Amino acid sequence: MSAVTGQVVTRFAPSPTGTLHVGNIRTALLNQLFALRHGGRFLLRMDDTDAERSTADFAESIVRDLDWLGLRAESMVRQSDRDALYEAAFERLRAAGRVYPAYETAQELDLKRKILASRRLPPVYDRAALALTDEDRALLEADGVRPHWRFRLDHGTPIAWDDMVRGPQALNPALLSDPVIRRADGSWLYMMPSAVDDIAMGVTHVVRGEDHVTNTGMQVQIFAALGAVAPAFAHVALLTGDEGKLSKRLGSLGCDAFREAGIEPAAVAALLARIGTSLPVEPVADAAVLAETLDFAKFGRAPARFDFDELAAMNARIVHQMPFAAVADRLPAGMTAVAWDAVRGNLTTVAGAVAWWTVIAGEIAVVAEGDRGFLATAAETAEGIDWGADPWHALTAALKAATGVKGRALFHPLRLALTGQDSGPDMAALLPLIGRERAVARLRAAAAAGA
Ligand code: GLU
Repeated sequence: MSAVTGQVVTRFAPSPTGTLHVGNIRTALLNQLFALRHGGRFLLRMDDTDAERSTADFAESIVRDLDWLGLRAESMVRQSDRDALYEAAFERLRAAGRVYPAYETAQELDLKRKILASRRLPPVYDRAALALTDEDRALLEADGVRPHWRFRLDHGTPIAWDDMVRGPQALNPALLSDPVIRRADGSWLYMMPSAVDDIAMGVTHVVRGEDHVTNTGMQVQIFAALGAVAPAFAHVALLTGDEGKLSKRLGSLGCDAFREAGIEPAAVAALLARIGTSLPVEPVADAAVLAETLDFAKFGRAPARFDFDELAAMNARIVHQMPFAAVADRLPAGMTAVAWDAVRGNLTTVAGAVAWWTVIAGEIAVVAEGDRGFLATAAETAEGIDWGADPWHALTAALKAATGVKGRALFHPLRLALTGQDSGPDMAALLPLIGRERAVARLRAAAAAGA
């Protein structure tokens, strides 16, 4: 990564036209981690200039989800509050001859593109509006046609930047259409407000998906036209799901689905910080460690594959390490730290602890395997051993000595009778928690049910 000097400022700029999905969660995370890595600031900006598609509910759900993910921004701004800023920038660009009114309808533009396509030419806007005279414009406006506004790209200045992921980038502005920055109704499109805000917010690094590469090319010229130095850019390859290119499924997969599946925010971060990079995907629960190891030079150019099963597997590994204090308020009443430590290695979600707490302290189904006599001896033996130190080893040693049974034939019927489960946490950790009284009763019940 190129050297970073001065205070780092990153931002996450979602459009509140939907809920967060795994792709933009990754973008938010990488911006937050990059700021964290450099002791910088991470800001949130609602790109809500599209009044028709943006809703307050989506904005709220985004804030809630970021909060749940632990991706807390230092502050939040809304583009809908910043009209004066855009107006001023627009006037400045207009005075400099960098914006111009255009009057084509959507149908006319579509037709132009079709004609270009039929000639196998790139669909670049022909700048016909630039050729209009004052008189032409006056006539159109007298007819009630209101213009939209385009930013005039400078064809004489090649566009270049050194991308933190993609390396040196070059775009020929003559092959790009002058972007529409303002609609005929006066509302703003994404392109200019984003650059204006990045300047006003002091953003130093923009991390986003590679679907924005062409936008960046145009924005590099907008920054220059506004007399600002463009931030550094990192365009990360997009995520793909099982079905290939960012599928609908991936596009709709977000925090609701994660919460429903019992996925921990730390698992989301551990996976999304590393997939598509040459770093190992590991259950790193500490954001500071993910931040320290974040390096855009290690991001690959190929799309990264996101697999929900991989997230679920990561979740299990994260849960296995979670300290009691981090989960205590989500555990069943009475469940202790010792009990959590005994069962966490067998969980795939924190919620799975409930079933093991029932095994420890509640009612379980009677499962009898092996003969009645063996289980009856086990119950008797359990009554006689010292429960103070290591009852599981005391029980199995005494039972082996009494019956001559060993190995699986010794252990498995005991596990089944004591837990009602075929497999699970280490019995040496579980049995002291189950306790003498319950254990003896369970062994007796199993003996009564045995063959
Ligand atoms: N609102 C834009 C989006 O969600 C932001 C892109 C950017 O990071 O500038 O795609």
